[in-house]
Amino acid sequence: AITIEKIEKAFGATTVLRDVSLQIADGEFLTLLGPSGCGKSTLLRILAGLEVQTGGSVAIGDRIVDGVRPKRRDVAMVFQSYALYPHMTVQDNMSVSLRMRRLSAWQRLPLFGRFLPGTRATLANIEIDVMRTAKALGIGHLLGRKPGQLSGGQRQRVAVGRAMVREPAVFLMDEPLSNLDAKLRVQMRAEIKELQQRLGVTFVYVTHDQSEAMTMSDRVAVMLDGKLLQISPPQEIYADPNDRRVAEFVGSPK
Ligand code: ATP
Ligand code: MG
Repeated sequence: AITIEKIEKAFGATTVLRDVSLQIADGEFLTLLGPSGCGKSTLLRILAGLEVQTGGSVAIGDRIVDGVRPKRRDVAMVFQSYALYPHMTVQDNMSVSLRMRRLSAWQRLPLFGRFLPGTRATLANIEIDVMRTAKALGIGHLLGRKPGQLSGGQRQRVAVGRAMVREPAVFLMDEPLSNLDAKLRVQMRAEIKELQQRLGVTFVYVTHDQSEAMTMSDRVAVMLDGKLLQISPPQEIYADPNDRRVAEFVGSPK
């Protein structure tokens, strides 16, 4: 489980997260839903360890991760902008984190490392894992291309695939579909959901798109102005909003 307790975040004099508490179960698909600027990405970045909270605490599993570096948390993040390395092929974009993790510092040396025992076998295994994931995402034929030679949807799959190959227990996804056209968005929605169920992993998914939140999530956490106003299964948010502002945001008749 992920336990978020009384998180606060201020940038200088501006407080952007106040008293955010939330528990996310193992294997749950939890969506943070809220308008632009409400603090969704900031909270996700705190979970990933990319931003340090000014108050409160985060635990992943039974480990408090405050102050733990991103690489040492068992999470993988897909960013709002894809953040692929433009000079690297798809294959390299997807395998770079595996290489960092599975090869020793010596083995990673470009020339010398090749001759160290185990390097070749490890690299071959990484290649197999990347290929398998790429095929599952329908980008197996694109491994030799660079991000500039891909469509938005293909780039998005590479970003998702790069997170997948790390096999983290927790996926953090920040509006991963926001740059896609409507048709692809609906298709990718189903794919991501299917993936999550197949792997049985925990998802914290950020979006400002209601229909995305409603169709994918086990629970939705509605955030407005740095505060979580309601955390409920999607139907309930719509049928039984606990706050006028929630009702307004989701367009509930109540
Ligand atoms: P969007 O849907 O547009 O991505 P968001 O909900 O993800 O919005 P955040 O990116 O978390 O919003 O930003 C929340 C607030 O914090 C915004 O008002 C933003 O301007 C502010 N903010 C974010 N990062 C910083 C920073 N590094 N310095 C100062 N203010 C920041
Ligand atoms: Mg954001």
